[in-house]
Amino acid sequence: MNQLIAANWKMNGSLESNRALLTALAQGLGAKPQADVAVCIPAPYWAQFRALSEQLDGLHHVALGAQDVSAHASGAYTGELAASMLRDWGCRYVIVGHSERRQYHGETDELVAQKVSQALACGITPIVCVGETLAQREAGQTFDVVRRQLAAVVHAVGPCTSEMVLAYEPVWAIGTGKTATAEQAQEVHAVLRAQLKAATEQFRRVRILYGGSMNAANATDLLAQPDVDGGLVGGASLKAADFLSIIGASRR
Ligand code: PEP
Repeated sequence: MNQLIAANWKMNGSLESNRALLTALAQGLGAKPQADVAVCIPAPYWAQFRALSEQLDGLHHVALGAQDVSAHASGAYTGELAASMLRDWGCRYVIVGHSERRQYHGETDELVAQKVSQALACGITPIVCVGETLAQREAGQTFDVVRRQLAAVVHAVGPCTSEMVLAYEPVWAIGTGKTATAEQAQEVHAVLRAQLKAATEQFRRVRILYGGSMNAANATDLLAQPDVDGGLVGGASLKAADFLSIIGASRR
């Protein structure tokens, strides 16, 4: 399976800057890229992405993703977006349980698991984020934390045919410029891989991405690790040249 390089634009962008970024990305990708590529962009710009995809050949190789989804199918949940709405707009992926949502919006493991179930029910691939804080790492709790976060999802997801992606994102490495070393990333990925293998058949194919200050300089090392199946890229995905370098550093 190809590695997956997914951009998380977070709450960044404007009609003007998106056009420039997506045009540069499309030009840089040209023919089929060596990795699967996705951009998880703010919902108001999904229409712009779709319109540009019809004009720019290179964008045909880029999948659209969302950054969150409701834990409910429909109803009185003002401001939320249902998985069916994401599907209507052509979202192929959705980031679920990002540490910024766990931290600033109080998302629990259980809520994250419900969101994953909603996405899967609509045929959208959730990119499920797990990761420890600095205090948890220093207390030697890294493996326990990520295992607990993953277990909540594995437990909640019944048999389904849709794909799931996992992203190991150490909280201390997100947006801080501090990257986990390739060895630190591989160590945690191996733990997650073992947990996935021990679960049901459907989890054995799950790709595990690394996220946390991945950039053009460190991507080659991180992406070369045997259990690193791609990257979830925040800051560096906002510059076309950097994001293209990361895609170029992916393992074939
Ligand atoms: C992220 O937000 O998912 C992320 C990995 O951010 P950054 O690359 O900026 O650390």
